[in-house]
Amino acid sequence: MILIHPPVVRPCEPPAGIARLCGALSHHGMRYRVLDANLEGLISLLKTPPASSDTWTSRAFRHLSGHLASLQSWDAYENEARYRRAIKDLNRLLGMTARSRHVRLGLANYEHEELSPARSKDLFRAAEHPEDNPFYPYFRERLTELLKNEQPSVIGFSLNYLSQALCTFAMIGFLRQEFSGVKLVLGGGLVTSWMKRPHWQNPFAGLVDHLVAGPGETFLLSLMGVKQSGNTCYEPNYDSLPITDYFAPGPILPYSSSSGCYWNRCSFCPERADGNSYIAVPADEVIRDLHRLVERYRPVLVHLVDNAISPSMMKVISEHPPGAPWYGFARITHHLTNLDFCLALKRSGCVMLKLGLESGDQNVLDNLQKGIHLGEASSVLRNLKKVGIATYIYLLFGTPHEGLIEAQKTLQFVVEHHDCIDFLNLAIFNMPIGGPEARQVETKTFYEGDLSLYTSFDHPKRWSRQRIRQFLDKEFKRHPTIMPILRRDPPVFTSNHAPFLVKKDRN
Ligand code: SF4
Repeated sequence: MILIHPPVVRPCEPPAGIARLCGALSHHGMRYRVLDANLEGLISLLKTPPASSDTWTSRAFRHLSGHLASLQSWDAYENEARYRRAIKDLNRLLGMTARSRHVRLGLANYEHEELSPARSKDLFRAAEHPEDNPFYPYFRERLTELLKNEQPSVIGFSLNYLSQALCTFAMIGFLRQEFSGVKLVLGGGLVTSWMKRPHWQNPFAGLVDHLVAGPGETFLLSLMGVKQSGNTCYEPNYDSLPITDYFAPGPILPYSSSSGCYWNRCSFCPERADGNSYIAVPADEVIRDLHRLVERYRPVLVHLVDNAISPSMMKVISEHPPGAPWYGFARITHHLTNLDFCLALKRSGCVMLKLGLESGDQNVLDNLQKGIHLGEASSVLRNLKKVGIATYIYLLFGTPHEGLIEAQKTLQFVVEHHDCIDFLNLAIFNMPIGGPEARQVETKTFYEGDLSLYTSFDHPKRWSRQRIRQFLDKEFKRHPTIMPILRRDPPVFTSNHAPFLVKKDRN
């Protein structure tokens, strides 16, 4: 069996889902290979001499090996100008390489001028013409070599983001043309969301042998003749992944202590719209896994990829530190209003918490069912600042109960807490097709794609996307206390690299 991580996603850490599948396959003694076609494909394109000879592109190509080396050591992270230049230059090279294929390509971006990853007919077109894909020269050679050497009976693709979809189908199309006997399995977060759309009908029968919703361990094992009952949690295995080659100063280990979300109430949440149930790995297993993994791979950072790390898990981790710095998503809860709780987190190696505040208006928060009280949020931010845990705050504009007045309250809240906020992520609300709010407002087709996960809607307060953008560009982002926070955000890699950029100030 071969497991493939297709382009394009940020190439900074090994794929968590594939590492979990590897854990399950290794546990049962199965033979498999992993291909990180994202990392390999991006590096292969970066190393291709550019067709354009303009000054910027030529200079970027000359500095390529220096940029890669600096992003794979502490060099770039200790010199912000160098870090930004490296990323800008790498994006320039990718952009220029893919331009003739009508693709806007970057280290975290793949957008075709005509084909949409939310339309099945466009995915079929990508599969019918793999030679049009900018990664074609790379994957034709690599897949041919791999399949000749390994003779796999099954190839599994892990498709998690829209930016991977067109490349995944181009690779699938190539395999169908050249190696028609091999069984193709497609799973991952994006496939799961597609399959949980209302009235889902599989458009890919005939092209892909099996689509898998949710964690793929049970399905892959059953395909290989291993029966297992219930939800067995396997320790992830990174042995087959190039953990020292990613764009990071050392290995980052992604690890999930749960799937789904223990809160599962936020009305706008795609996780809730998908109906994914909450499954937590038993606390003693999490601690045992983390200790073993840190011992084995010596990571510079552990990335807890849970949708929200539960307070009880944070407590357990603070009592049994993993032995490496860590960060992840948490909810703003009363636990974090306790300074001792925050101090214990800090001592356990927590360098940053990502927190979904969403709004600075209590009424909006209550309607979103966030379970956040602004008074508590204020004290949480101040505590985290006191103990030296960086904060990456997520705001969401344009939810149905928000208008300009409420958005201005969010601006006010951020201004009042600007000294406790290290990084900010601003997003405009997309209405999940299957979510509870989609039933309460007038909806329309959003992407005009049969695979679209979102729907557009008539905003009850006439707070349109255009008005929100104007507010963000002209008011929010220009505020003198907010501008420096936004400027600090690592380009392209955002929260994935943020812990490295705060690390030297905080520790
Ligand atoms: S805390 Fe996050 S993952 Fe959980 S329901 Fe809310 S938005 Fe969804």
